[in-house]
Amino acid sequence: MDDVIDLRIQRVLDEDESSESSESSSDSSEEADPRQSGDQARREEPFVSYDTSLPVLHSYLGNDLEELSGRTVLDDDSCQTIPILTLPGVMLIPGQILPLQLYNPSTISMMIHIIHSDHTFGLINSRYRFSGRIFTNVIDTIGTTVEIRSYREEEGDFGVNNLIIKAEGRQRFEVLETRTQSDGILIGKVRILPELQAGDPGECSKLSSLNKFAIPPPNLSSKPSNSFQCNQLLHRSSHKYNKYDFANYTWFPEFVYKMYDANVLMNRIKTTMQSWNKTMHSDAMPCNPKEFSYWVAANLPLDDRQRLELLKINEVTHRLRHELKILEECCVLTCRDCQGIIANREDIFSMSLQGPQGTYVNPNGYVHEAITVYKAKGLRLTGRPSTEQSWFPGYAWTIAECEVCTSHMGWRFTAVDKSLKPSKFWALCRAAIQNRINGDGDEPNEL
Ligand SMILES: [Zn+2]
Repeated sequence: MDDVIDLRIQRVLDEDESSESSESSSDSSEEADPRQSGDQARREEPFVSYDTSLPVLHSYLGNDLEELSGRTVLDDDSCQTIPILTLPGVMLIPGQILPLQLYNPSTISMMIHIIHSDHTFGLINSRYRFSGRIFTNVIDTIGTTVEIRSYREEEGDFGVNNLIIKAEGRQRFEVLETRTQSDGILIGKVRILPELQAGDPGECSKLSSLNKFAIPPPNLSSKPSNSFQCNQLLHRSSHKYNKYDFANYTWFPEFVYKMYDANVLMNRIKTTMQSWNKTMHSDAMPCNPKEFSYWVAANLPLDDRQRLELLKINEVTHRLRHELKILEECCVLTCRDCQGIIANREDIFSMSLQGPQGTYVNPNGYVHEAITVYKAKGLRLTGRPSTEQSWFPGYAWTIAECEVCTSHMGWRFTAVDKSLKPSKFWALCRAAIQNRINGDGDEPNEL
């Protein structure tokens, strides 16, 4: 009975909590009007003193996982037959880490077989659709291959009863057909989608006779190892020569070529994200345009439809342009079910070295993609704070739901050690939120 009481929906009653709640409420009222421009609504920048490498480790799964060596790369455009795992609300991006806690015997059996073969399976987002008085499980047409990096088997009385896995998204694929085996395992015939990158947009327009006037580019033999070095290199090179001088001899002005330059697009995306707040620009951002485009796709608060659109894009520049458009239009995060405003885009911040959004698994095996925000509103807390299997070591989590429609929205994390900054923050489920864009509501945003 006590458990029932603990789990009932409750307002925060104790004095400390209510003061924090009212603080959050007053914060919200100060930032409630997304129509204010950046100068009008000067915001408090999040200050993070936390060791952001801790959430990346997924230490709540334990530190004694057995590492697997070797990597599998499947040929572009090749057809493969692979076992498929479907997860509701999870659409993995290449490079994204996927933690799993598996209890289903047939799924465990499938994974153990995979661990002893090429470590690779397919992951597809699934959702339930209600029609004709029955629920049917519908899967997407695009998925991602996932490679198991490490695992731990936990034995019970009747064999392995819990399998813990850390895996990584690898390559996108298109589902050609699926069949279900007698043991319930889904097998998919898939086509690996190619990764394309267009060359220099002005290559065909350059006159080789003008090469003798060109100033050679900086020595690229020492490959930049991080974002900082990459920016330094780009900054230096921009003073030495203008790679768009050839545009003077073509029909198109310089800006047209820049619209399709991967490095220019990457810098515009970084500038846009940094304008939200300083934690959004990290040295952990990849330098390679393809990896950068996937990093952005994994860290943006996109709904399933937007993510699926990005996963369908084969060419890097096209993907970057699509992401920049979403970034520039994104205004506020709302509840997916009732459209109530939960957070502003400036409230998104990174509590993890990998970026503001990560994939985590709870003790019951449910996988959540969660994005961290500094402030939130329109939420109420359920149950008591707990540190059990906290995704952010040093912080206790409390379930948060939408104040209007009671949908589960995520968790509030509060610092157990009061010296940790921030003292509290929110992690919102990607599957529970939508980003409202300019002109897509009654509260337009002035950028
Ligand atoms: Zn709601």
